[in-house]
Amino acid sequence: MSVETRPTMSDKKTTPKRQGISTQAVHAGEARQKPGDSITDPIFCASTFTFPDSQSVIDFIEQGQNREEYGRYGNPNEKVVEAKLAVLEGAEAALLFSTGMAALVGLLMAKLNAGDEIIFFDECYHRSREFCAKHLSRFGIVTRQVRACDYEAMEAAINPLTKMLISESPTNPHLSVVDLERFTAIGHEHNVETLIDATLATPYNLRPIDAGVDYVLHSATKYLGGHNDLLAGSIAGSAEKLEPVRKLRGIMGSINSPHNIYLLSRGLKTFELRMKRHNENGQAVAEFLAAHPRIERVFYPGLSSHPQHEIAKKTMRGFGGLVTFLVKDADWRATADVVDAVQIPRIAPSLGGVESLIEQPLVMSYYECTAEERQQFGIPDNMIRMSCGIENAEDLIEDLQQALEA
Ligand SMILES: *Cc1c(COP(=O)(O)O)cnc(C)c1O
Repeated sequence: MSVETRPTMSDKKTTPKRQGISTQAVHAGEARQKPGDSITDPIFCASTFTFPDSQSVIDFIEQGQNREEYGRYGNPNEKVVEAKLAVLEGAEAALLFSTGMAALVGLLMAKLNAGDEIIFFDECYHRSREFCAKHLSRFGIVTRQVRACDYEAMEAAINPLTKMLISESPTNPHLSVVDLERFTAIGHEHNVETLIDATLATPYNLRPIDAGVDYVLHSATKYLGGHNDLLAGSIAGSAEKLEPVRKLRGIMGSINSPHNIYLLSRGLKTFELRMKRHNENGQAVAEFLAAHPRIERVFYPGLSSHPQHEIAKKTMRGFGGLVTFLVKDADWRATADVVDAVQIPRIAPSLGGVESLIEQPLVMSYYECTAEERQQFGIPDNMIRMSCGIENAEDLIEDLQQALEA
């Protein structure tokens, strides 16, 4: 059977206009006619790929033919989803990893050398911070942290050893929104590459590549997969810049099983529908909480009280399903009581799936930190983070109401 399973460029030639997000999410990267005439991409359960004879192996190597060789270097399912993610991101290329953390580690290990420095905005996923502080440091790479959205501090921290500027946008769990124009302008001015972890925004809500960011990272475990049933990560950017990252991934082996990739591909089909609902639910829940007398503060970019609301409104299509809030006059126990009283959201780490999740960062991710460290990371005892799923907003709000009044 010689059915072409790789994405073709023909669509691009005939449709110069960028297609809608759902059309891209459903069709991009996929061959029109697939093996077995299947409408879905068959799952290629293959650890290795065969050659008909020795001359074919030699031709493959000498001519750099576009085919598979060994599972750690690539798989047809992976190529399809990478092409789909690149189109969704508006990037030239995308690379899949086994998790979001594997994507971050893979990119930084491929791009940095001993003696290099990177600069991070200090509000970030706890394990990203830990990887840089505890592990990159062992290889002689220095991480400088500056306050989130303090562009002067970031620029001042740049020196001739600086190789990358890194931030999330919005940040986890504070939902600060980075001004990507300023961020990339600093990078361009000093000839330093830029990386945005846009996991909380997704390509539906934010377009970092259009803003000139070099690398866009996602934990595809979250909204891209969308169903709380898989772990994966991705990086989008220029094909040339990603080539060494792909090569190192083939050595480190931080890849997905074909089954996992199928789940991601299936989850992506409903990407836009889900994001619209997450955005609506996040906004409704944030507005409800902001008006509730037991709430001290709500962190959500869609509220006019948010410090970067103007830049968020200008640059984002919606503000996602993650809402962080502080319970007024509550110690850690009274805060835990609110978490324990909700009926619909499940208590778990993670975000971005169809099921709503809720957690108290102190208990879930920062329990082993000292009080000083939590203060430094901006994690007060009365903070709750809720990931609004796709349930009905009225039900989520009614549930929060009873939990806050319990
Ligand atoms: C979850 C998350 C990660 C890590 O992704 P995994 O898929 O869990 O490895 C990185 N960045 C952000 C912003 C996240 O929310």
